[in-house]
Amino acid sequence: MAAELHNVVGGTRVAGRRTFEKIDPVDGSLVAHVHEAGPDVVDAAVAAARAALDGPWGRASVAERTALLRRIADRIEERFEDFVAAEVRDTGKPEHLARDLDVARAAMNFRSFADTVAAAGLDSFLTDLPHGRKALNYAVPKPLGVVAVIVPWNLPLLLLTWKVAPALACGNAVVVKPSEETPSTATLLAEVIADAGAPTGVYNVVHGFGPDSAGEYLTAHRGIDGVTFTGESRTGSAIMRAVAPSVRPVSFELGGKNAAVVFADCDLGKTLDGLARSVFLNTGQVCLCTERVYVERSAFDAVANGLAERAKALRLGRPGAPETTTGPLISHQHRKKVQSYLDLAVAEGATVLTGGAVPELGPDLAGGSWIEPTLWTGLDNSARVVREEVFGPVAALIPFDSEEEAVRLANDTDYGLAAAVWTTNLERGHRVAQQMRVGMAWVNTWYLRDLRSPFGGVGLSGIGREGGLHSMHFYTQPTNVCVQL
Ligand code: NAD
Repeated sequence: MAAELHNVVGGTRVAGRRTFEKIDPVDGSLVAHVHEAGPDVVDAAVAAARAALDGPWGRASVAERTALLRRIADRIEERFEDFVAAEVRDTGKPEHLARDLDVARAAMNFRSFADTVAAAGLDSFLTDLPHGRKALNYAVPKPLGVVAVIVPWNLPLLLLTWKVAPALACGNAVVVKPSEETPSTATLLAEVIADAGAPTGVYNVVHGFGPDSAGEYLTAHRGIDGVTFTGESRTGSAIMRAVAPSVRPVSFELGGKNAAVVFADCDLGKTLDGLARSVFLNTGQVCLCTERVYVERSAFDAVANGLAERAKALRLGRPGAPETTTGPLISHQHRKKVQSYLDLAVAEGATVLTGGAVPELGPDLAGGSWIEPTLWTGLDNSARVVREEVFGPVAALIPFDSEEEAVRLANDTDYGLAAAVWTTNLERGHRVAQQMRVGMAWVNTWYLRDLRSPFGGVGLSGIGREGGLHSMHFYTQPTNVCVQL
């Protein structure tokens, strides 16, 4: 039976101005009726968050906050299978992926930011003054305040907790707006956070869409103190405009058109495994996924054929089937966009190495938004499909002849989120990775994360960095105290 998902305001379930349907991308069945928040519900959520800050939560010690974060992590683990089921119904991703990546990382996010905030010190300077006198400067971190958290549908719980955990660790209260495509785990998290003993109003959820809906009402609201957003670059621009009148800080993790650079001296088997993961994980719906693969010419055929073999070996199917490697795209609407790029690639002169169409998976899955993993050759950096983010299981393979050319081609993009370099030459690995104009560069791996390291992008891929102390910097505002000694 379809669930009914309410907004959560000050610990209470609140109906919206209307409901919308959340559809299962696996087979088109109905997952939930979701209450869309109108401006009144968003007002109430912002007010509830403010009231929490004005109450005991605003005076909670670091020890109290970190203890809460650890209890939240424990409760996520106690309800692990509920989170897996909710995430899988919303996204259609394979169960093993939801288990190993999304839900596991959610608990880890809370523990990691509890550790970071517990260990963080204060910035202080002893200032020399004329005549041997001194002054002591120290910066006291204060919460930013009411933080609007806007997240996408691709890794819903992982990306939500990546923002909520540091925000709460720093003493903020949040109003979260999950994607309209993935409302379930954000709602479940409200129960878990309340069970863990968070004061009322610390975590509020408003459901709905972007423009003329909860997303826009929240980001344009004068009662918020900052916005942390993950999603498309275009949406980032809209949010910048929304916060401009009140000059609020933003932290943006946006789109990517990420390159892999494969040298002929790579370990071919490991590189193909890593490349296949980086192109096809989560049906290519990870902001870090590789959509451009530059290959040294002498290895081009071996890499192209090897990657195509791995693409053909992927198994599309129901999330619970043990052999399933790959789920559907998130929605029919998104599939339409991806299909338009499949058509465009052919029109731009691509050779389709594998895939390129909607697969036949039988009547059971015919209502789902399935797409074939797809690889192209024969394109160059001038093609629109090589320049624009597709956000599906697709990549273009392009040959290069020198290290300089590879660096130039990889950096020839308006985006700048992530890159991966595949080589057994250690010096070259460091050298090329450091020249990538991105926030994160990997050598002989991909999407290997230390949660304390900076995460973010340059250019169209974002503003600011989150992770460890970088998150602390966004979610706090220091007050400098200067004492003449
Ligand atoms: P999206 O920008 O369409 O939506 C993201 C969120 O913003 C949703 O909750 C949506 O309802 C809301 N929104 C949309 N318009 C809005 C507006 N005008 N005002 C306020 N809120 C608004 O993105 P998506 O399609 O959900 O996610 C895919 C995109 O996210 C891709 O571009 C992907 O690269 C990016 N992404 C980036 C990262 C990263 O860390 N850099 C991680 C994951 C996804």
